Amino acid sequence: MFFCGIWAILRSSTGEYAKATQTVQARLTLLPGDGIGPEIVAQAERVLRTVAERCGHEFSYTSGPIGGNAIDDFGTPLPDDTLAACRDSDAILLGAVGGPKWDDPNAKTRPEIGLLSLRKELQLFANLRPVAPRPQLLDASPLKREIVEGVDILFVRELTGGIYFGESGRRELDEGEEAYNEMKYSTPEIARVVRVAAEAARGRGGRLTSVDKANVLEVSRLWRSVAADVVANEFSDLQYDVVLVDAMAMHLISRPRDFDVVVTGNMFGDILTDEASMLPGSLGLLPSASLGESGPGLYEPIHGSAPDIAGKGIANPLATILASAMLLRHSLQLEDEAVLIESAVDAVLESGARTADIAAGGPSIGTAEMGDRVIAALQA
Ligand code: NAD
Repeated sequence: MFFCGIWAILRSSTGEYAKATQTVQARLTLLPGDGIGPEIVAQAERVLRTVAERCGHEFSYTSGPIGGNAIDDFGTPLPDDTLAACRDSDAILLGAVGGPKWDDPNAKTRPEIGLLSLRKELQLFANLRPVAPRPQLLDASPLKREIVEGVDILFVRELTGGIYFGESGRRELDEGEEAYNEMKYSTPEIARVVRVAAEAARGRGGRLTSVDKANVLEVSRLWRSVAADVVANEFSDLQYDVVLVDAMAMHLISRPRDFDVVVTGNMFGDILTDEASMLPGSLGLLPSASLGESGPGLYEPIHGSAPDIAGKGIANPLATILASAMLLRHSLQLEDEAVLIESAVDAVLESGARTADIAAGGPSIGTAEMGDRVIAALQA
């Protein structure tokens, strides 16, 4: 039997005690974005509405433009109204931004700036990416089944600091020019993201791995010592180790099962999470969450706007639907409802339903039908 999330103990007129679900009210901002974004967010919204109805919650929805479509209509990839709606909400669900139409390297602005600005404005410093290949799709992975089976890693990537936000530029030399990007992290920036990862490890397998390049980079030496202090002082119950980023790149494809929660900086996390996204075999299945110390979290699939299939009705909506499960879990503390969605996705995959990206050339269904199947599983 399935139970909905937050419980209250009620006493009836006859004096008997009973448990009843508490209604959770939440304001959700939907940012469909570009390409397949609107198609996949529409399915995730249907799923959220179904869960809310089934569990007696009251979610209200606001939509806003972001990315390329916002550049077209408002001249900026993150209009003020969109940012204000996001600030005013409990959680944000994003599709994807970008596409060839806005790829001109000489353009004044780009769709991705909208997303980077949103993360920065809301101080979403911790990016959580669970990588757990679904048992029904193990053979979709380019790696052998015996390596991928049982993998369950949560990556926690620092998202608002490091080399992507350091000073950058070019300077003329006597001969040619040089370009530079500054990489820096402060003690508080490191400590807060390590705490998020350590808390997550406590709720999972109790193991935390910090990834750095401390044999070469001063920034990594500070990262390593701050991480060690945080764990020793606040999370001594965890099994903790450190791995160099180059070694981690190998371990991820040779023994990925050995990792539970992995915490790392912005650039290393960017690269390692893309590598890890190959473990489950399809981009269309991986969600992510970006969280700050307070305020709304941002939830999105890890894939892009897939312009090659936009408008065809064949995009896989499951990563976005799984992102909506993360939204319920992390922003609304509705763990049972999150599990309800994840179980529905598993049931649909178990039944053999596949969108084209995971069908391995076999029969496939479209975006809306995949949404229908998940909703039917939720209502079963
Ligand atoms: P992509 O992830 O959009 O697509 C890569 C391949 O995967 C394509 O063949 C695509 O059809 C397929 N694919 C992706 N998502 C799918 C889904 N849900 N269902 C089925 N197939 C799917 O990456 P790209 O082609 O390198 O980038 C396209 C655009 O997206 C670019 O403008 C890029 O900058 C942008 N992008 C945005 C984000 C984001 O919004 N967070 C992330 C990555 C890329």
